[in-house]
Amino acid sequence: MERHVSTVEIVTELTRMRDISQNWRAHNAQIGFVPTMGYLHEGHLSLLRQANHENDHCVVSIFVNPTQFSPQEDLDVYPRDLEGDHAKIKETGAEVIFYPTDKVMYPPGYKTYVTVTELSSKLCGITRPTHFRGVTTIVCKLFNIVGPHRAYFGQKDAQQAFIIKKMVTDLDMDVVIRILPIIREEDGLAMSSRNAYLSPTERRAATVLHRALQNGLELFQQGSREPLLLQKALQEFISQEPLARIDYVSIVDPDTFLEPGENCQTLLAAVAVFFGQTRLIDNMTYSCDE
Ligand code: AMP
Repeated sequence: MERHVSTVEIVTELTRMRDISQNWRAHNAQIGFVPTMGYLHEGHLSLLRQANHENDHCVVSIFVNPTQFSPQEDLDVYPRDLEGDHAKIKETGAEVIFYPTDKVMYPPGYKTYVTVTELSSKLCGITRPTHFRGVTTIVCKLFNIVGPHRAYFGQKDAQQAFIIKKMVTDLDMDVVIRILPIIREEDGLAMSSRNAYLSPTERRAATVLHRALQNGLELFQQGSREPLLLQKALQEFISQEPLARIDYVSIVDPDTFLEPGENCQTLLAAVAVFFGQTRLIDNMTYSCDE
């Protein structure tokens, strides 16, 4: 199903997006969907390529969703580059960029939100209490408009991916959620649109995240399975970097996002750390099978 189309339609109207999707569905075509906030990098593009590979048609949305930012966060300065994104998307085979305005997604009088309880208030939800409510609301709306068979998310945002899977299960949504691996820079830093905010010194300092996670993996592989000890080791490793200010370091069971039980064979180490004003997240799975 490889396609490399030279024209990519930019759709801003909800009705047009729905027409395209309904027409594809009427022809029994499979639709892959990649929701993003734009300023695309190789992490996003890996999702698009896979979506293109596994489906007859591929849609990417670019929408900097205001409801997932709190008032003091970076909504107004979030990096945007539709022209650059358009050029990159052309190379992936995706046919449609859904690019709605805030008013299309949240018209005046908008009142409805989707919340996955409990899970949304852990880890990133502690310092960002309304963030996941915004994410699940927009993803639910986008699924309703785009009508995908498969939707693609990155393991980079592990908690987000887990919460979306839970929403899809709990609300009986007819869409397969595909979670793809974290794409990293050569020095290990997980790709993120927010890396653009980092000064050169912060950018160098930020490599501590991957090094810390990697160090935790080595400890795990040497037999250190106690979550609290691993958490402490990661915290200490990151704290050696003077520019790093830890939001959280957490070791959870990736199947529940709860504290790991005694016989848990796989652990997820997840971190959120500020470098200056920029908050970066990263994670790594520690598994006995690997
Ligand atoms: P965003 O534009 O930050 O909302 O991200 C859109 C999608 O791309 C989400 O599913 C992210 O998890 C995914 N993504 C972001 N960065 C990466 C990365 N470095 N590797 C893989 N997927 C990523």
